[in-house]
Order: sequence, then structure tokens, then C-alpha cells
Amino acid sequence: MPTALRIGIIGGGIAGLTAAYRLARQGHRIVLWERQRQLGGQAAAFPLLGTALEYFYHHLFLSDRDIVRLLEELGLADRLVWLPSRVGFFARGRIYPLSSALDVLRLGVVPLPDRLRIGLVTFYLQHVRDWQRFEYVTAEQWLRRWVGHRAFERVWGAQLHAKFGPRAGDVAMAWFWNKIYLRTQSRRSLFERERLGYILGSFNVLIDSLAAAIQEAGGAIHSGVGVEAIVRHENSWLVRDSSGATTLVDVIVATVPSPLVAKLFPQLPETYRHKLLGTTYQAAVTLLLQSRHRLSDIYWLNIGDPDLPYTGIIEHTNLIPPSYYQGRHLIYVSKYVEQSHPYLALRDEEVLAAALHHLPKVNPSFSPEWIEDYWVFREHAAQPIVTLRYSEQIPEHRTPLPGVYVANTAQIYPEDRGTNYSVRLGNVVAAMIADDLRQGRIAPSTRVSGSSDR
Ligand SMILES: Cc1cc2nc3c(=O)[nH]c(=O)nc-3n(C[C@H](O)[C@H](O)[C@H](O)COP(=O)(O)OP(=O)(O)OC[C@H]3O[C@@H](n4cnc5c(N)ncnc54)[C@H](O)[C@@H]3O)c2cc1C
Repeated sequence: MPTALRIGIIGGGIAGLTAAYRLARQGHRIVLWERQRQLGGQAAAFPLLGTALEYFYHHLFLSDRDIVRLLEELGLADRLVWLPSRVGFFARGRIYPLSSALDVLRLGVVPLPDRLRIGLVTFYLQHVRDWQRFEYVTAEQWLRRWVGHRAFERVWGAQLHAKFGPRAGDVAMAWFWNKIYLRTQSRRSLFERERLGYILGSFNVLIDSLAAAIQEAGGAIHSGVGVEAIVRHENSWLVRDSSGATTLVDVIVATVPSPLVAKLFPQLPETYRHKLLGTTYQAAVTLLLQSRHRLSDIYWLNIGDPDLPYTGIIEHTNLIPPSYYQGRHLIYVSKYVEQSHPYLALRDEEVLAAALHHLPKVNPSFSPEWIEDYWVFREHAAQPIVTLRYSEQIPEHRTPLPGVYVANTAQIYPEDRGTNYSVRLGNVVAAMIADDLRQGRIAPSTRVSGSSDR
């Protein structure tokens, strides 16, 4: 009896590539489809200034152990650097440093008693382990109660609004707890600045290495080719892609956003489809500026000021020095919006013009002359919205369809989505498939002829 499965992976982001890598090394025959011409999904990078840079800003936390282990396994550990970062909060027209516990006590946007409450609540949340009770209360309800209305509205409420807009009130406390809890894992002590990780040469170093390992193990990667339709064919799945080709596989791993999984598999039973279609996402629009000068000395600037209509400003070259980028400063101006928001439809020049108007608020000496080049990137499924009782709504990795698995960012919980967790998704689903094969829940089709028209 053959034991090698024909496995189709939909999506060449970090989750799809990790799953493909693990399964190819188990001896299975892999076909991976990626709709974009480039692999890497949300973590991909493009060539810039003699190196490469992510379309969307990226760093790692010290708690991101799965991706660090994968980098070590691929012989890339020496490319990973850990550097101190500076965090800030923009409110009431100025930047407040927010890198340490002492900075919280100096956060002048609220009076001292409010700062003490924020400090105490932060300390408390850092030590909570039984997060499950936070599934039943929204972040807004819980935080208003414990830090008070004024502190909530000026600090955490303002940040929630900057990320989730009109959906801010729906976000569960479980999501917020995790942000505070994990972030402090990147700090050795309360008074030390957090350290963040970055792969020198960009996440493409990891993406390229995974792709090479998949191909070395005999896997096929079709980039620039999206999966369009899937039908059951005897004991296999027949996959039709955007090149018009069809491929027969025994097993499918879908790493694409949940609503797209529902569309690709109309035969899924209603209860499972309901979970897929119940997932909603915030979109992200990121403007990347190549500047002659530094905008501020902060790496990660959270925004809680209605006069500056962005979610954050991430000055990449305040983490990785400008010397890596021919002396240029690289600044991401990031805005999360609902998927129907008109900002997503603005032309690139309009996105730039708006930012040039607003950036002097961050640094009064900023001038449009500083900008040598700019790019605008958009991602529709950037952030799953974690609502109340989210755990009950997550679709299982094993779907009710034979040999069909889902591994996407909406299943990451209680942690927030991130490259580390997409590596974990890939690892988990590959181990699940190995187990299902051992247990006889899935099996290679015995039909060998006519398996693909590729
Ligand atoms: C603005 C922003 C900032 C971020 N910052 C960080 C950070 O600092 N640190 C961090 O760790 N993470 C960060 N992330 C998150 C991280 O990039 C993602 O969570 C992770 O890369 C998701 O990987 P994935 O493989 O699960 O999904 P994706 O990267 O979304 O991959 C899914 C892939 O499926 C492809 N696809 C879609 N439809 C089809 C189809 N029909 N056929 C074939 N392929 C298809 C897509 O093109 C995509 O490549 C950030 C994300 C954004 C948007």
C-alpha cells in the first residue's frame, strides 16, 4: 500500500509554506498554489536599497518560539537579531514615550491617579493566566470598569478605536489581555526596554529557504496561480486553478481567509460554513515612506489622537539602523479600516497627500521634501476581529469533508495573529495529517493514472 499522499496546499504565506515544508519532508507529494506572483503572503518583502523590506512592517517578540525554532532548523539563526525598541503614544498633539513602567507613570494625557490605575491594571493583566473568563466581556466593558472612563477614553479606548473603528466595542477582553500579556514577555524586567527580533535581509530569507526546501523534497510550487474551484472526484479532490489546469489530490490544506474557504467548498455542512462566514476581518492600508531624515526617535508609535487618523507609525530604521538601507529612513504609516472603508479605494497619491498633511503633527520640522520615494500596500484580511466567545466560533482544522483541513489566521487564539503562529498552524496541521494517516482516517488513493493534467 502506498503511504505517500498527494497534498494540495492553498496559499503560499507562512502557514502554507510551513505545512508544505513539513509534509514534503514526511515524503508526501506536495502541490502548493499561491495566487500572488510572490510567495510569503502578508510577511513578504520586496527589493529595496540593496536589500529587501516587508510590504507590511514586521518584527518578532521574544515569546515567538516556533518561528525561532524553524529559523534554527533551516540554518538561519544567525540572521535573527534582537534589538531594544522604543515605543511611544501619540495623543493631544505630542509623543509620550511608553517603553517602560516608569513611562506609564509619566503619561501626561491623564492625571496621576489614572496613570496609577493604568499601571496597576497592566501589572495585573501581565500576571493573569486564566484568560478564559475574558471571553465573556468586551475590552471596553472590562477596561472602563477597572481604569475608569477617562483613562479608557484617552488611552486604551483611543487605541482600540484606531485599530477597530466602529467595531472597537465588539472586541473581547481576551484579545486585549493577550496583547498586554505577550508584549511583556519581550521584556526581561518591568524597567527594561522591550527587545524585538528581526530577520536581517527581511522575512524573504525565511520564505525563500522554505520554498527551496519544499522543492528539494520534490514539492511543486505554482506562484501567480490561484485556486478557483474544487470538486470531489471519486476518492480524491479535483482542483482547478486560474491557469485552467486541474490537479487531483488526496488531501487539501486551505490557509486562505475563512470566507474564501467557504466559497471554495460550497459542499461544507451549514454548521461549519456558519463558523467560516462568521469571521470578520479588519483591512490594513500601509504607506511606506523612504525619507532623507528621521521622523522621530520612536520605533513603534501608537496613535490615540483623533487629529492624526492612523493606527500607528512604525519607523523601521529606529529598530534596524539606516546604515542597512544606504542611510535612508523607512517609515510605515499604518491605518486599519473596515473592509468597506473608502480609504481602501483611495489612489496611492491620495494616501500620500493625506499623510504629508498630517506628519508635521508628529514632527513640526517634517517637510515633504524629505520623501524620496513611497509605496502603498493593502491587505483585506489583515486582522481577524476577536469577538465575545470567540473560541466557540473557531472552525476546527479538520473540516467535515474527507481530507480537507483549514489552517488560517482566524484560528489563532488566544494569541493574536502573527508569523510565529502561522508557523505553529503549519506545524500543527502537518502533524494532524500524519496522525490521521497513521490512524487510517485518510489514505492515498490507489488510482495512479490521470492524476493531473499539469
Ligand atoms: C500591517 C501588518 C503588520 C503585521 N506585523 C506583523 C509583525 O510585526 N510580526 C508578525 O509576526 N506578524 C505580523 N503581521 C501578521 C503576519 O504577517 C501574518 O499573520 C502572517 O504572515 C499570516 O500568514 P498566513 O500564511 O497564515 O496567511 P497569509 O499571509 O494571508 O497567506 C495566505 C496566502 O493565500 C494566498 N491566497 C489567497 N487566495 C488564494 C487562492 N484562491 N489560491 C491560492 N492562494 C491564495 C494569499 O495571496 C496569501 O499569500 C502583520 C500583518 C499585517 C497586515
